[in-house]
Order: sequence, then structure tokens, then C-alpha cells
Amino acid sequence: MNSPHYIGRFAPSPSGPLHFGSLIAALGSYLRAKQQNGKWLVRIEDIDPPREVPGASSDILATLEAYGLCWDDQELYQSQRTDIYQQQIDTLLNQDLAYYCQCTRKQIGQMGGVYDSRCGQLTTPLTQGAIRIRNTAKVSKFEDLLMGQVAVETGFAGEDFIIKRSDGLYAYQLAVVIDDAFQGITEIVRGCDLLETSCRQLSMNKILGFTSPDWLHLPLACTKPGFKLSKQNYANAIDAKRPQASINAALAFLGQAQVDPDHVDIMLKQACDQFSIADIPQVSEILIEQ
Ligand code: GLU
Repeated sequence: MNSPHYIGRFAPSPSGPLHFGSLIAALGSYLRAKQQNGKWLVRIEDIDPPREVPGASSDILATLEAYGLCWDDQELYQSQRTDIYQQQIDTLLNQDLAYYCQCTRKQIGQMGGVYDSRCGQLTTPLTQGAIRIRNTAKVSKFEDLLMGQVAVETGFAGEDFIIKRSDGLYAYQLAVVIDDAFQGITEIVRGCDLLETSCRQLSMNKILGFTSPDWLHLPLACTKPGFKLSKQNYANAIDAKRPQASINAALAFLGQAQVDPDHVDIMLKQACDQFSIADIPQVSEILIEQ
């Protein structure tokens, strides 16, 4: 069944070059969007400068192009949207749906690891520090197209989480929800490392009055149990000059049939025609050799 209104996305953080793990998220989200006759957008999540590597954004975009993963519309840079994030925070503060918090990690550890909302109950609210949302929605369950019914520990799901850090940086949870709504994303396809955090995004959508997208979380490529392949643990960059082998390796990882080595556009077209969610392994991680 094709949906003319499908809009999907790939949202890399520019903390390093594309590696096999991010290729899986890029390819999986691309094939799903294209099979639905939808749009596939790219958003660069560059709002955490300490974690960013100079040149990584353009490197990621060039690698996507070399793999034939051409996105629709202009790519969006979160670093250009901070005014919007601040406006949303100001609105939430004015509505008393957010509050400042100065609790330390140590204090939160003493609370058992889940923030107990104490700064939100002060008679004289703080005017500095991190900013937390009042999580009035507390969504702890959702339906994932691959993983089925997902239930997240209610303490984590119901926590008043941070939307602006004490160092002044906007939190991923805030920016991702505002931008998914702004870009009209109808379905989010990404790795299982973000499975549980979807509950916070669903809560945020409810609080902000946005329509929530659908979700499809793909298995994560791990080097050993619990260790995802990531830029932080020095995953090898994928080879932009020889995409054919990596495309087939990513398809195999996703349980999909191989495609004939050819020009990337032809390979992706064939992969799209063959793409089947039912064949994706229904597991949160798969071990691979690096
Ligand atoms: N920027 C996030 C990352 O690279 C992904 C965000 C998302 O897909 O929601 O891990």
C-alpha cells in the first residue's frame, strides 16, 4: 500500500563520518520512504558543538550522495533553528509547563536515578540552570512497526526531562520533536538505541499538541552485546568510493535480499522494489565483525 503523504527522514549528528551503523539507518529509512512513494528528508542535528567534528556534515552528505541516497528538499540544519527552540521554551516557561532546575548528577543519583521534580515544586521558582519540561503526558507505551508493543519503565518515561542544558545547549529531545513536526514527518525509521526515548518524544508531542508520527526501530549493529557501532567507539567510516559492497552488506543486515552490483541508483531501485519489513530481524541488536 502506498501512501502519497509519507514523509520520512534521516537525522545524523555530525560527530564523525558515516559508518556501517548509520548506513543501516539511512538505507532503512530511505527504502521505506521510497517504497511508500514518499519523501525522504535529511536533517543535520548539529546542536551539540562539543561532540561535533569539523567537516563531518559535508562529509556525511557527500557519502549519502555517493551511495545514491539523494534526499528530497533542502537539508535542514538544527543549528539554524535555535531561535525556534528558544521560542518554544519561552512559551513552555510562561505556561508553567517547564521550569529551571539546578540539581546535580549526584543529587539525581541519590534520588535513585530518576529526577523527582523537586525544582518544579518550589514556591519561588529558580531563574537559572537547566530547563526541564513538566512531563504531564508520561507516555510509557507505544506501537512500533517492527518491535510491536514497546513498554518503557514508567519512572524513565514519566520523568521531567531536560529540554535545555545548563550549558545553554538545546536538548536533543526538544529539537527532534519540534523539527519532526515542522518537517511533517509521518514515520520515524531509526536504530533501536532510540527505542525507549521515543516515549519522551511522544510525551513531548502531546504536551506541545503535535500529531505523533509512527515508529519503526531497526536492529542496531553491535561489536559486542550492548556496544553499538558508533562514531564514539571509532567505527570505521564506510567507503564512499565503493558503495556496492556496503549496500549489499547493509541489506543483508536488514534481512533483505541482495541486489546485483551495478550503478547505485539501479541497486537502490531494486532494493526498494524488494524491501520487506517482515524480513527485518525483530531483534534490538545484531553482532557484527568490525
Ligand atoms: N541525531 C541522532 C543520532 O545521530 C538521531 C536522531 C533520530 O533519528 O531521532 O543518533
